Formats: sequence, structure tokens, C-alpha cells
Amino acid sequence: MQTIDKINNYWIHQFEMPLIISGPCSAETQEQVLETATRLSKASIQIFRAGIWKPRTKPGNFEGIGEIGLKWLQKVKEETGLKVATEIANATHVKYAIEYNIDILWIGARSTVNPFTIQEIAESLKNTDKIILIKNPIHPDFDLWIGAIERLITQGIKNIGVIHRGFSTYKTDKYRNLPNWKVALDFIKRYPNIPILFDPSHICGQRKGLSKIAQQALYCEYNGLMVETHCRPDEAWSDANQQITPEKLLETLKSIEVINKNARQKLDVLLLQIYDLNHNLLYLLSEIFKLSNIIGKLKKNCHLPMVQHNLWKQMIDELKPYVKKLYFSEDFSEILFQYIYKEFVNIQNRAIE
Ligand code: PEP
Ligand code: MN
Repeated sequence: MQTIDKINNYWIHQFEMPLIISGPCSAETQEQVLETATRLSKASIQIFRAGIWKPRTKPGNFEGIGEIGLKWLQKVKEETGLKVATEIANATHVKYAIEYNIDILWIGARSTVNPFTIQEIAESLKNTDKIILIKNPIHPDFDLWIGAIERLITQGIKNIGVIHRGFSTYKTDKYRNLPNWKVALDFIKRYPNIPILFDPSHICGQRKGLSKIAQQALYCEYNGLMVETHCRPDEAWSDANQQITPEKLLETLKSIEVINKNARQKLDVLLLQIYDLNHNLLYLLSEIFKLSNIIGKLKKNCHLPMVQHNLWKQMIDELKPYVKKLYFSEDFSEILFQYIYKEFVNIQNRAIE
């Protein structure tokens, strides 16, 4: 049985990086689904998304087209070759999604928040090979997110990824859901094998700022993006404000690629300089320790006291005004000299043995 620490990420390797999942918030009509998918297939999109059952904040809004939308997704697969994804929120959704051979299923933020719902979904998916993506819960509860993954793993589900779609806040202006860079970075650090995607659409809630934040996410080593697109965004039946056209998405991806390439080149040059400086630093440290070896031998031959801490301290004190002019803190220099002194004494001790 897999555990969360030993989870594999084989599924992501069948896709090009960054993995882009895109499509409308909701499937509305067959024509809207097919037109959006056809236009997306000309961009470098690999997975088409569309919500079939929509968790809406208030009743009376469009709550999803239901089962018929799954037939449209099948048509998308046949006509464009794209893989398809939809949201599932209970065992009945899972049953239909499997029946219609939907490739990727995602669990929305409002479901991740509820362990009963996750347990029901996990049991109905038992041992599936489908790719299951888990959005973060609506509030920043890391353990609840991890708990959802563990519930799926316990049911023998292997192909798992997560999506950061931001966290709810009372007051919204710039963002509809606040991104938390720390949580996501912690995730990457703790579970480097679990692919993590970024959903700039539900974070921004509007078109403004979407490209910029998507770019930042790719800098932070996200494996890809889930972006809402619609053939006529202003007419969308849900989340109209945040959807963009497939062409706008392509433009955004191209600009990210160019900016990333330029930034990466600059970074490479800077890292090369740091490599050279580190090389010099090692040489200088080695020169210091070569002298401490000579000092050790001298002290031994001339019967001088081995440890002369005061002389060392006097030297460091004399260097202090100089440290003030340098590019690092006095605290750092203090710690650095403590380490050097420790090795300085070790080498002297070895010299007299
Ligand atoms: C969606 O992806 O359309 C959706 C409802 O997202 P979330 O669960 O992030 O609100
Ligand atoms: Mn949406």
C-alpha cells in the first residue's frame, strides 16, 4: 500500500510541462463546449475541463447541465484528442464520470473541506487508475488537505495531484480567494512527489492580474495551471468575470514562456558568478586552514600554548569595522568566524598529534 510520503508522480510524466488544464467553468451547451475545446486544442492545452455539477453559493443560479454534459465531453475527446476533466462531489457523480470515461476528476474546495464527502468520494473511487486532483479546502487548513489525500490513498488510489485555488476571505478586492505562497511552498517541500497545480481563475475572480499571478506560480515551481476559458466569456453562465478566451490564454502562456526564458538566462549568469565566488571562497578558507596547520606545528616545536583564544578574538574585533561595510550582517560574520575558529583549533590539534 502506498503512503503519502512514498506516493509516486508517474501520471504527470505523460504530459508536457507545465501541464495546462483549461476549459469553461461550466458546460452550458454542446456548441459552447465543442467550440471552446476546438479553439483550445490549437493552444498547447492537454486537458479540457468543464464543470457538469456546479456547487453554487446561493440557490437559484445555474447549477450545472448534468449528465448530458458528459456526452459533450466524450465528443470533445473524439473530435480534439484532448483528455477531459470534470468536478465530482459525491458517489453519484463518480459513478457517471466513470461510466462516461472521463479521464481526470477533480474534487472542489467545498468538498475537500468535508471529511464525510471525501470519504464517500474515496470509497466510490476505490482502486481507480483515474487521475484525481484535490483542490485546497476553502480555508487555509493544511491538515484537512493532507487528510483528503490520505483518505484517497487508503482506498488504493494512486494517481493523485493537488490544486491551489486560494483561500476564502471576508473582504475581497484584489483576489476572490487569497493565494498563500507559503502553504504551497510548504506543500512542495513536504511532498515533492505530489504534482501541484495553480488555479489563477478562482484566485483572481477577474481577468485582471491573471497572467501575472500565473507566471509567479510557475516561478514557484508549480507543475502547471488550471485556467477557466470560454468561447464567449462575457456570456458565461457561471464565473463570467474570470473567464478568458482560448486565444487570450495562448497569449498569456506565450508571454510567460518568453519572460521565464529571459529570467532563467539571467539567473543562470548570476549562478555562474556565484559558483566562481564560492570556488574562490573555498580556496581562501583552505589557505586559512593551511596556515593553522603551520601554526600548530610551530606551537608544538616551540612549546607555545595550544589555544590562544584572546589572539583570535583580538583579530576578529579589529575586523569588525570592516564587516560593517560589507553586504552581510554582523550576526552572520560572528557565526561564520565561530565556525572558522572551531576548524582552526581542530586543525592545530591534529598538527600536534
Ligand atoms: C471550479 O473549478 O469551477 C470550482 C467550482 O472551483 P473551486 O472548487 O475552486 O471553487
Ligand atoms: Mn468556476
